[in-house]
Amino acid sequence: MNKVMSGKVPVINPDRCIKCSKCVSICHAQAIINERSLSCSRCIKYCIAMEVPCNTDNYVFDYKKCDSCGLCVLECDQNAISMTDHFEKV
Ligand code: SF4
Ligand code: SF4
Repeated sequence: MNKVMSGKVPVINPDRCIKCSKCVSICHAQAIINERSLSCSRCIKYCIAMEVPCNTDNYVFDYKKCDSCGLCVLECDQNAISMTDHFEKV
């Protein structure tokens, strides 16, 4: 049986993000990455409604690296990052 991990993690509101990359610079865990650097299609795999348009300029979080310190939330002067509950099967 899978174990379920939970905790607060950051999420980015892409409508507010101006791609300044300040959050990327402040993150000591290198947990914020540009989608362009990923081999993508994750939306195709996970989004059953296909509602999310693919935008490779967006920043995304690597939750395996993120330790939920919240520094990126404080660094973003656009209020584009917030902490939310996260649940993941491992
Ligand atoms: S600091 Fe805020 S506005 Fe700048 S790239 Fe990060 S989320 Fe976007
Ligand atoms: S919460 Fe901390 S570790 Fe996680 S992405 Fe933000 S700055 Fe990096």
